[in-house]
Amino acid sequence: MTVRTQPTRTDELTLVDLLPVSDSREWHRAACRGDPNHEAWFPYPSQDFEYAREICAGCPIRTACGEFASGTGQSGVWGGHEFDRGRVIRE
Ligand code: SF4
Repeated sequence: MTVRTQPTRTDELTLVDLLPVSDSREWHRAACRGDPNHEAWFPYPSQDFEYAREICAGCPIRTACGEFASGTGQSGVWGGHEFDRGRVIRE
């Protein structure tokens, strides 16, 4: 018998947990890994994204992350920039 439990707050996925772990961009090194402030990575147009941008500034895979977002049509903050379906909308 399999017993399923409700996910706890620590079980919640963060942005980088959604990325393909087999990808060669070394996502395990992502500075945002485990970040609990999920909303900061998908800001409203009227909201700044300084919080996410500062974390990205110290990320060792920043360039690859931005290229991934551009090449795969991502939205949200990637590589220190905000994307909308793969297009940079805020630097
Ligand atoms: S550049 Fe930013 S969004 Fe991309 S993996 Fe690093 S911290 Fe996360």
